[in-house]
Amino acid sequence: MNELSASSANVDQAAAVLRAGGLVAFPTETVYGLGADARNPAAVARIFAAKGRPADHPLIVHLAHAGQLTAWARDIPDAAWRLAEAFWPGPLTLVLPRLPDVLDAVTGGLDTVALRVPDHPVALALLAAFGDGIAAPSANRYGCVSPTSAQDVHEELGNRVDLVLDGGRCPIGIESTIVDLSSTKARILRPGNVTESAVRRVLGEPLATESNRFVRSPGNKPSHYAPRARVVLAAPEEVELRIGEWHKRGQRVGLLASHWPTTLPDNVTLLPLPESVQKQAHELYHCLRQADHLGLEVLVAVMPPDVGLGHALRDRLRRAAGLGDNGEPAQVQPQPLPGVEP
Ligand code: AMP
Ligand code: MG
Repeated sequence: MNELSASSANVDQAAAVLRAGGLVAFPTETVYGLGADARNPAAVARIFAAKGRPADHPLIVHLAHAGQLTAWARDIPDAAWRLAEAFWPGPLTLVLPRLPDVLDAVTGGLDTVALRVPDHPVALALLAAFGDGIAAPSANRYGCVSPTSAQDVHEELGNRVDLVLDGGRCPIGIESTIVDLSSTKARILRPGNVTESAVRRVLGEPLATESNRFVRSPGNKPSHYAPRARVVLAAPEEVELRIGEWHKRGQRVGLLASHWPTTLPDNVTLLPLPESVQKQAHELYHCLRQADHLGLEVLVAVMPPDVGLGHALRDRLRRAAGLGDNGEPAQVQPQPLPGVEP
C-alpha cells in the first residue's frame, strides 16, 4: 500500500489511480472512505472484495457539489435541494430514486442511490480532480470499526488498497447522517452529526418514524462498528456494578467514560472520553481501537444522554455492543462463560 500526504500532486495521482480502476482511501470529515470509480463495475467489485462486504450492501456515492445530483438521481424532491443547500458540503447522505444507469453493484440492487458531498479539503480536491462520483464506504473490514486516521486504514486493509491519502485525523469521527427521501415522508436511516431536529427544521415537517430502517438500509445491521473486545453498555449509575461483574470473572476490563468512579479495581484500564459529545464522537473509534491494542477483553462503555449528537453516539455504541436499535443498558447481562461460575 502506498501512503501519501495529501499534496495536490498526490491528489492528482490518486485521481489517476481511480481512473485506472484502483482503490484510493481518503479522509472525509466523518471517517476515511475506501473509494473507487462509481461508474466502473470492476473497480466497485474491488471495494467489496477489500472490505469482505456482502454484495447486496449499497455504497454511498461521493460528489464534488450538489449540481452533480442530477447525474445520479431522478425525481429529486425539493426537500433534497433544501437539505443539500443547508448541509452540503457536510456529514449528511441523501437516499434518492436512482437513474437507470447507476450500477446495481453500487446500490445493492435497490431502486435508490445514496449521495453525499463531504466537507473535507482532501476529499473535495480528489472529487474535483476525478470529476465524477466516487463510491466510498468506510475503509474498514466489514463489521469492524470505521477508520479515523490513515494508520487505522493501514491496520484494516493493508495492501488491499492501492493508495491512501493521509489527511490526519477525521474531524467528526463518526459516519454521516443518512436521510431517505425516496418516499413521501423523509426518514432518518442512520443518525449522525446532522441531528434529526436540524433536518426537521430545514424540511419544516415531521419525519417518518425509524421503525423500518433495517429494511431500507441493509448495511445497518445490528452488530457493526465492533471492536474485538466485548462492549458492555452501562448507564452512569451502573458502571461499578458492570465493571465488578466482569472483573471478578478474571476478564481484562476497560472503562470508556467521560466520568468515572474515584476508585477503580487495580487492573481496570480507563479510556477517558472528553466532556463534550462533539469531542466524544471524535475520540470514540480511536478508543475502541485502543481497547483492542491494549488486549482488553471487555470494555464497559457509559451511554451518553440521548440528546443531539448523543443520539448517534448511543447508536454506534449499541452496534459496537451487538445490540442494534433496541438494546437498553439494563438488558445487558454477562453471558455465562464456558466453565466459569458467574
Ligand atoms: P458506509 O459507507 O460504510 O458508511 O455504509 C453505507 C451506509 O449507507 C450503509 O448503512 C448502507 O446501508 C447505507 N446506504 C447506502 N445506500 C443506500 C440506499 N440506497 N438505501 C438505503 N441505505 C443505503
Ligand atoms: Mg461502514
